[in-house]
Amino acid sequence: MFIKSVKLNLLKRFLLFSFIIFMSLLLVYFGFSNTIKPSVNDIEENSLTDFANVNVEDIAKDSEKSSNSYIKWVEFNGSATLLRKLSDLDISSHSQDSTIKLNWIELMSYLGCKYGGNLKLFKQSDLDKLVSELNSGKTMEELTSNMKLYNYFYQSYDAIFHEFIGEYEVETSDSSGNKSYTKKYGLKAFLPIAKNYSFSHYKDFGSARSYGYKRVHLGNDLLGSIGTPVIAVESGYVESLGWNQYGGWRVGIRSFDKKRYYYYAHLRKDHPYAKDLAEGQIVSAGDVIGYLGMTGYSAKENVNNINIPHLHFGMQLIFNEVQKEGYNQIWIDVYEIIEFLRKNTSSVYMAYDDTKDFERRFEIMPVE
Ligand SMILES: [Zn+2]
Repeated sequence: MFIKSVKLNLLKRFLLFSFIIFMSLLLVYFGFSNTIKPSVNDIEENSLTDFANVNVEDIAKDSEKSSNSYIKWVEFNGSATLLRKLSDLDISSHSQDSTIKLNWIELMSYLGCKYGGNLKLFKQSDLDKLVSELNSGKTMEELTSNMKLYNYFYQSYDAIFHEFIGEYEVETSDSSGNKSYTKKYGLKAFLPIAKNYSFSHYKDFGSARSYGYKRVHLGNDLLGSIGTPVIAVESGYVESLGWNQYGGWRVGIRSFDKKRYYYYAHLRKDHPYAKDLAEGQIVSAGDVIGYLGMTGYSAKENVNNINIPHLHFGMQLIFNEVQKEGYNQIWIDVYEIIEFLRKNTSSVYMAYDDTKDFERRFEIMPVE
């Protein structure tokens, strides 16, 4: 009896000891990984969103639960080639005055629905079939009547590309330099790098970043030379301007429909912004807004702590203002969108000799 109880005691002690060691190790592990917590305002460039295990159907259902619910998650994974095909179909159907007008966002949403959100599965034959059905007089409502998720995909893709294609008037000049406005229908979003300036980039969305705290990269880095004029991709108003510990000198521009927030970061030391750019100001797609640099990764202002000069470009979707800050932000992988915008660059020139500031060469006007 006596011997048995000693044995039991020893076993109990051993188990208790192991348990304590195990718990201490857990505490140490999670303690360290959370030592540096970001403040809400600091996570503009990056957030801790977990990309894994996102089920499109669950998200779509969640978004439709009640009338005041909103979309919580969007992923865009289409290629630049696909964007070009769809935009060409849309633009040519409008410019040729054909009776059937194709809408590239509707085409994209149909495909997104068909592939469960994975546009990498795109097959040309699926698009050909869809276009021929539409051209034969069938409507998108008829073709999508059995697709439960069509509305979710339409709202998601429309939130990204709403202002990319449409009618506008562009300033042009003839051989003798006389300027005039011409009405056009087409791509009206611009590459964020000015015309005739080179840049390189790679697929860096979601890759790990270590400065500050454990996080992932929620944008695309466009590597170029210091001073390269940075262009507003879409029109909107300047929502934030100034120093951010992560982004350095940065500017955030919100689209007029409020659904997109464009984030341009690591702008040039000493002279980051275009002349007179200020918070609340309205900018037009194609305007010069700043200059590429290497500022950031510093709590102190105006410090070059980035190794390679680049523009960090990010696009955030906001369906509800609670998604602007915090841990439920939706950032889009813009790599393929940048590739798609390559052909639409804004031409610039040095307009002010004293400040060495650039301006766009040709204005564009929205058509009401
Ligand atoms: Zn970046």
